[in-house]
Amino acid sequence: MSNKPSSWTALIQPDELAQSDNCTSHFSSLVGSMERASTVVFPDVKSMRERDWRNKSQYSYGLLGTPTTRRLERKLALIDNVKHALLLPSGLAAVSLIFLALLKTGERVLLPRNAYQPGADLARMLAGRFGIEVDFYDPLQPEALPLTANTRLLWVETPGSVTMEVADLKRLAELAHARGVLVAADATWSAGIAQNVFALGADIGMQALTKYQSGGSDVMMGSVSTDDDALHELLLKTHMQLGLGVSPEDCQLVLRSLPHYRLRYLAQDASARKLAHWLAAQPCIELVLHPALPSCPGHVVWQRDFTAAASLFSVLFKPEISQAGIDAFVEALALFHIGYSWGGAVSLAIPYDVHDRYPQSGGLVRFYVGLEEVDDLIADVQQALAKTIDM
Ligand SMILES: *Cc1c(COP(=O)(O)O)cnc(C)c1O
Repeated sequence: MSNKPSSWTALIQPDELAQSDNCTSHFSSLVGSMERASTVVFPDVKSMRERDWRNKSQYSYGLLGTPTTRRLERKLALIDNVKHALLLPSGLAAVSLIFLALLKTGERVLLPRNAYQPGADLARMLAGRFGIEVDFYDPLQPEALPLTANTRLLWVETPGSVTMEVADLKRLAELAHARGVLVAADATWSAGIAQNVFALGADIGMQALTKYQSGGSDVMMGSVSTDDDALHELLLKTHMQLGLGVSPEDCQLVLRSLPHYRLRYLAQDASARKLAHWLAAQPCIELVLHPALPSCPGHVVWQRDFTAAASLFSVLFKPEISQAGIDAFVEALALFHIGYSWGGAVSLAIPYDVHDRYPQSGGLVRFYVGLEEVDDLIADVQQALAKTIDM
C-alpha cells in the first residue's frame, strides 16, 4: 500500500512495538502485551546512569511509564495529530497538571463561566492558597475577554459543561496569542473526533478519557497533549514531580476500547440528535441545549468548527414546572440511570441547578445517550414525562 492511511485507520492497526514484541517467539497477535513494573532493571551501572527519564523510548521507573502506557500515549497523540501526550489518573488530574505546570504566584488564569465545576474549584483553591489570580469570562463574548498583563493561561471548554454554550475557540486563541497568553482546551466533549482543538489554535489539549475513550463506565483516566516541545517538557517535569501515574491494566482497557470509540461516538451522535429533536417538540420543554440544534447558544460556531456532536446535551424545562416534578421525571425514567460521568454504553440523565445562568427558566436535565435503540429511549422519556409532568 503506497498511500499513507488516515489516522483513524492507523489508530486501529497494531503499532510496530506490539508486533515486534510479539514476533520474537514465533507468536504474533493483534494485541499488544501488558507490561507492569515498579522497578525497571538496568543491565549495568553505565546504562542506569545514562538512562534519560524524559526520553519516551527509554524506561527507568514504573511511575514514569511502561511500554503499555507509552503505547496508549502514542495512540492519543496520533488522534490529536500532535507530538506529545501524557496520561493521568483522571480528567480532573489532567486539569490540575496544566494549572500546576504553567501557573506561578501573581499570574492569572481565565476560565469560562460555564467551566467544569471541579476544575473551577481547583483554580479557586490555587487562588486562595498560592496567590494565583483567577477570573471568569463569558464564553459567548470573546471580544470582552478580560486579558491583563499578568494573564498566563486562557482555559477554553467547548461546549461548556451542562449548559452547552459553544465557544469560538479560534477567535479566543487569536486574542490570547496576540497578548502572549497560552491557550488550553478541555476537549472531552469533542473527544478528538468532532473537533481538533490544535487546528483551531489551542496550545494544550486535555481530555477525560474516562468518557468515550474508556467506553465502559469503569475506568478513570485523563490525558494532556501538545505539539510544542517546550510546553511538553514543562508538563512532563511537573507530571514526574507530582508522582502522577496510571495503571497498565487501565491503559489496556482503554487500548481495547479505542479502535471502536469513534464508531460509537458517531452512532450515539445520531441517536442523541433524534432524541433532542423529539424533546424540542414537547410542550414542557423550554429550550434544548444541544450544539447541533439552532436553539443552543453558539450553534453557529458549532456548525463552523465541529464535524459531529457528542451524545451529551441538556434541556431546560418551562418555568412553571416545579423542581419536584423534574426530579420525579428523572426517577421515572427506566432506561436512563441517574449518575455522573458518561461515555459508556448505558444512557444517563441527571438534574442540575443552573438558575444562576438561567434565572427565568425551569430546571435543567442533562441527558447522555448510550448505545440502546433510540426509539426505546424516546419511548422511555415519553412514558416518564406522561407519568410526572402534567402538560
Ligand atoms: C468528566 C469531565 C472532566 C473530568 O474527568 P474525570 O475523569 O471525571 O476526572 C473534565 N472535563 C469535562 C468536560 C468532563 O466532562
